[in-house]
Amino acid sequence: MEEQLPQHLIDLRRQLNKYSYEYYVEDNPSVPDSEYDRLMNELIAIETDHPEWITPDSPTQRVGGEPLKAFTKVTHDVPMLSLGDVFSEEELLDFDRRVRQAVGDEVAYVCELKIDGLAVSLTYEQGKFVLGATRGNGTIGEDITNNLKTVRTLPLVLPEPIDIEVRGEAYMPKKSFEKLNEERSQNDEPLFANPRNAAAGSLRQLDPKISAKRRLSVFLYSSGQFDREKIKTHYGLLEAIRELGLPVNPESRRCRTMQEVFDYIREFTEKRDALPYGIDGIVVKVDSMDQQRQLGNTVKSPRWMIAYKFPAEEVVSTLEAIEISV
Ligand code: NAD
Repeated sequence: MEEQLPQHLIDLRRQLNKYSYEYYVEDNPSVPDSEYDRLMNELIAIETDHPEWITPDSPTQRVGGEPLKAFTKVTHDVPMLSLGDVFSEEELLDFDRRVRQAVGDEVAYVCELKIDGLAVSLTYEQGKFVLGATRGNGTIGEDITNNLKTVRTLPLVLPEPIDIEVRGEAYMPKKSFEKLNEERSQNDEPLFANPRNAAAGSLRQLDPKISAKRRLSVFLYSSGQFDREKIKTHYGLLEAIRELGLPVNPESRRCRTMQEVFDYIREFTEKRDALPYGIDGIVVKVDSMDQQRQLGNTVKSPRWMIAYKFPAEEVVSTLEAIEISV
């Protein structure tokens, strides 16, 4: 099939696959995220105009990267998906319109901080932590149980003997990130590009002693398997996870109107620098689980949530530099 595709499309896909490999598998990106996002948006635009060119192996159809061979593989019974991105309030209003068209006008959202880390899944059996995994390519991840055990904020035993799979973001607090890069610079080791790559590089270590030294943390925000009939909303799920003693980010907020969503975004755009961990956007989620089911998923991401991404910092600093030089 590939011969029939325009050369530019083939080149674009190759380039994106190379960058994805460097980012997800090697934890060592060679270009800023804004450059990756620019190429990805170009590919999406071409494929939107020519849906006949979409193939299952296109970067637009895939989640994350392949698991490293050195780790035992873990299959996710419920796939760990990515998120659709938007970059403006207009695009958020389009998302809201699509949601309302599908489920009607009675919609509430939960706004959460988009933590700049990597997605992990934690399985507890009879209340005991038995398995920790990366998202990998969404279906198959890596077994990083021993590394996750070194994260001090994660309970190894829950207060109830329940079976549950919870998901969230493992991250490196800003202070740990700065300290780590300082040490690496003193030892003439390559620096991590950002806290996300540092967290991923630290958790995907074969020696858990290295992960232990890196002071990682986790916030949980969803579950793969959690049978509690009384939970009807995403906000209720967050409360239930918190009641189990698992760390949940305290800033999540239920919003009843898009105005409240925009206010939340403005508030945390301002507070962002003062937070002790990195965030790269705001995630907006439909609160009702019935409505989430009605909306369903695409191959890559749920239709009931969206990430509003902050403008890329690299671009912001370039713009500032231009302003200063004029
Ligand atoms: P993503 O980072 O845009 O968003 C999805 C992820 O957000 C989820 O998997 C989850 O881990 C995370 N998340 C954080 N807080 C969350 C919350 N409260 N609720 C739900 N999810 C939350 O998607 P992605 O597919 O992991 O990665 C795409 C990003 O990676 C883009 O920003 C892209 O620029 C970057 N990237 C960069 C390069 C490069 O070469 N620089 C290559 C590949 C990808």
